Amino acid sequence: MSRPILELARCTVCGGTSFPARVPGCRHCGAPPAQLRTEACATPVYLQNFVTVHAPLAPGLKVPAVIGEVTLAPGLVEEARIDVTDESTLVPGMALAPVWQSDAQDAAGSWVFRPLDTKVAA
Ligand SMILES: [Zn+2]
Repeated sequence: MSRPILELARCTVCGGTSFPARVPGCRHCGAPPAQLRTEACATPVYLQNFVTVHAPLAPGLKVPAVIGEVTLAPGLVEEARIDVTDESTLVPGMALAPVWQSDAQDAAGSWVFRPLDTKVAA
């Protein structure tokens, strides 16, 4: 089983990045997909902010869940699930590794982000 790679779409017109890699167009300048190049996301990525949600905001989201704003590339911030059971282990600015989590129901899956350094801030 091959390990999925977190990919971005890099715009050849404006140089901006979009996520996911298969977007209908550049989110910055609107260039069509033909102008976008897929490239691997540089890792680690960094956590901006986070919140614990207790309501299932999306189908299949197990709650409570920790949702973070993650900087995938300069100017590209995405909301994603942080793979921790308790947000108290998180601090803004910490490094995260993308982990592909496949859905047991089918072949689909999603990216979650796991702290590289789980030490608790004193
Ligand atoms: Zn663009």
